[in-house]
Amino acid sequence: MEGRSLADETQSNPLAGESSGAPLEPVAPAPGSAADPRSDKGREKERKKLEKLQRKAEKKADKAAEKAEPAEATEGSSDKPEEEPKREGRLARLRFSKKKDMPGGLWLKCESCSQVIFRKELEEKGRVCPSCGFHFTVPGKERIRMTLDEGSFREHFADIEALDRLQFMDAQPYAEKVRRATERSGQKEALLCGLGTILGRPVVLAILDFNFMGGSMGEVVGEKIALAAELAVREKRPLLIFTSSGGARMHEGILSLMQMAKTCAALQTLNENGGFSICVMTHPTTGGVTASFASITDLILAEPGALIGFAGPRVIATTLKVELPPGFQRAEFLLERGMIDAIVKRSEMRETIAKFIDYSKGARVSHGGGALRPKGRS
Ligand SMILES: [Zn+2]
Repeated sequence: MEGRSLADETQSNPLAGESSGAPLEPVAPAPGSAADPRSDKGREKERKKLEKLQRKAEKKADKAAEKAEPAEATEGSSDKPEEEPKREGRLARLRFSKKKDMPGGLWLKCESCSQVIFRKELEEKGRVCPSCGFHFTVPGKERIRMTLDEGSFREHFADIEALDRLQFMDAQPYAEKVRRATERSGQKEALLCGLGTILGRPVVLAILDFNFMGGSMGEVVGEKIALAAELAVREKRPLLIFTSSGGARMHEGILSLMQMAKTCAALQTLNENGGFSICVMTHPTTGGVTASFASITDLILAEPGALIGFAGPRVIATTLKVELPPGFQRAEFLLERGMIDAIVKRSEMRETIAKFIDYSKGARVSHGGGALRPKGRS
């Protein structure tokens, strides 16, 4: 089954698994990686460049290591302490550069251009790669900060918790996994939801956070999307959803797949009540989330370079035994084929959404309140 294989792939993804304390690790293969035409020469050049960069920035890193937040350091607790690399010098640097993902580390490699980036610099730039403009996954709470007007967020439905109805167990019990994710993130589920304003326009905001079990959709996420849609009807506000997800939460079996129908029904009700909804698909949005509520809002936006699809590219390539076209399942590819309405840079997201909200009001006024209702019904 597609769902099953997708889950497998999500699990093998460093971002989705238990080790995902840090939000900035590389995800999924880079565009066109199926072919991977990079030559040895290119690689060597890249490696040299990388080494040079690290040497140059070492002094900067040493300073920053002292200032680095203690929370970050504890995340990589299984690794050596942060101060050690500067003492061991070259040896440590080598180990450092070989490591692909560095939870809590000072440096990370851009999955799009392979440039080594100073984590602090990336965070200051809104988690957009300074060299190629790749939009990294943003943790839910940070997304709220960068989207809404300061101090306007009022969280709703924060206390709904997952039930382990199937007593599911793989490497560890599902209940234990949820408990750990809660501990790490300080939130009870993958979906954050509440009221707020964007440049003065009131919205209901729902954010699927990849840092919580890969942003997977279980019963709670489905319920909270439904509640958010109802809240949008009640409050007469547009519903704004940001997604980043590995798909349905397989630990909840069929119950997680049922959320696809449930969330779609909730959005349909919102639609019938003259509501307006926007979904912004961010990197990565896959599986049952793409196949349900994320794809049926009035407007579907995406961030540049975001991976958006149902089954992952590796699964498709190996199942169908075909070579996938370059840029497959990236936002730009989908825009060309009409799957999404627009690609919006993170730096322009607030203004663009505010503009669309204004347009939606205009549309409803000029059509006597029925513009968003399906045609052919009386
Ligand atoms: Zn980059």
